[in-house]
Amino acid sequence: MNFELPEELSLLQKTAREFAEAELRKPARVMDEEEEFNVGVFKKLAELGLAGLTIPEAYGGSGFYESNLANQAACVVLEEINRICASTGVTLSVHMSLFSSALNKWGSDELKQRILPHLSTGEWIGAYCLSEAGSGSDAGSLTCMAKKDGGDYVLDGSKLWITSAPYADVFLVMARTSAEHKTRGISAFIVEKSRKGITIGKHEKKMGIRGSATCEVLFEKCRIPAKNLIGEEGKGFTIALDTLDGGRIGIAAQAVGIARACMEEATDYAKVREQFGKKIAEFQAVQWMLADMSMRLDAARLLMYRAAYLRDAGKPCAKEAAMAKLFASESADKTAKDAVQIFGGNGYSKEYDVERHFRDARITEIYEGTSEIQRIVISRALLGA
Ligand SMILES: Cc1cc2nc3c(=O)[nH]c(=O)nc-3n(C[C@H](O)[C@H](O)[C@H](O)COP(=O)(O)OP(=O)(O)OC[C@H]3O[C@@H](n4cnc5c(N)ncnc54)[C@H](O)[C@@H]3O)c2cc1C
Repeated sequence: MNFELPEELSLLQKTAREFAEAELRKPARVMDEEEEFNVGVFKKLAELGLAGLTIPEAYGGSGFYESNLANQAACVVLEEINRICASTGVTLSVHMSLFSSALNKWGSDELKQRILPHLSTGEWIGAYCLSEAGSGSDAGSLTCMAKKDGGDYVLDGSKLWITSAPYADVFLVMARTSAEHKTRGISAFIVEKSRKGITIGKHEKKMGIRGSATCEVLFEKCRIPAKNLIGEEGKGFTIALDTLDGGRIGIAAQAVGIARACMEEATDYAKVREQFGKKIAEFQAVQWMLADMSMRLDAARLLMYRAAYLRDAGKPCAKEAAMAKLFASESADKTAKDAVQIFGGNGYSKEYDVERHFRDARITEIYEGTSEIQRIVISRALLGA
């Protein structure tokens, strides 16, 4: 067993770290303040090959897919990006771990050739449309319809909470092709934003990841060719869940990145802030908070890499991905809370980034399956239910 990153992943880590430090620090604060995503920074990140990690080289990807390192590479990069900017981090995670991976695994050659190269270069951004107003955790009860009409499908319905909707160029949409079967009546479609009948609706005002847009997407008589179906008709729910295994590893990486930022910033602060004539780092109460942060961070990262390794090896990883996401997200929440505590009043002020990290950490326990849903996934695997 080896706990070192292979050389190609170490180099990738260095590239992502340098990019995030140089290009993301300032925009991260501005995006949060102005609630507006910086698409230009995302395109720059893509120019370095960081948006095509889960895409084969034949479609412009970065080469990690061929070495069975795509998900591990995504973890390396997502940790670095989320350490500085969780709004850019979630955009990248959805783009790579949800959209690109699903299209690559389940799409036809024609679709892949037409779409994946645009995602590799970052010219296009991908989004994932599963949730609806009435179906969140119970995603299988979705009602958005896709009716067959000659050589086309016609989409009618609306999706809620869609990350990147206003600046995404292409959506993966789960819609109902049969009203008779609950989950077996769902199919998955690639829908280019340029098609008629798509409207971007309400823009959510959020607690955290405020730089990432989260919107309603409405489909009204939106006609798409049947060749935009991925997998078979009725396979959409299987595709959605399989894709979420990879997505959850991406969110674990997001949580690891946020937690690392909190730990590093709290450690630095504790070494300079003085009270009672001492650095606060000399108080055992503070030392123990830092020690626990460090332990949780390592444990979360190990769970994350195990899940990513399994997925890259093509092995089942639903339980391991759920464990990584659950542990990493709950750890990030606790670490961010303690970081605010170590900063005292300054932790409550927007002058310091821990205030933003505290708000950003919370979402990792909610999207791509809440913590309760992760516990259901894990216990079902244990009980064979
Ligand atoms: C910022 C943001 C971005 C998002 N981005 C996307 C996106 O890009 N694409 C997309 O499709 N969706 C997206 N979502 C939706 C997200 O995945 C859902 O919000 C999430 O799955 C929870 O669904 P819900 O909000 O309907 O909550 P509900 O399902 O209504 O859950 C409410 C509460 O009930 C609990 N609960 C529900 N069922 C059970 C159960 N069986 N046992 C125990 N407890 C249960 C939940 O854990 C939760 O605590 C996003 C959400 C947010 C907030």
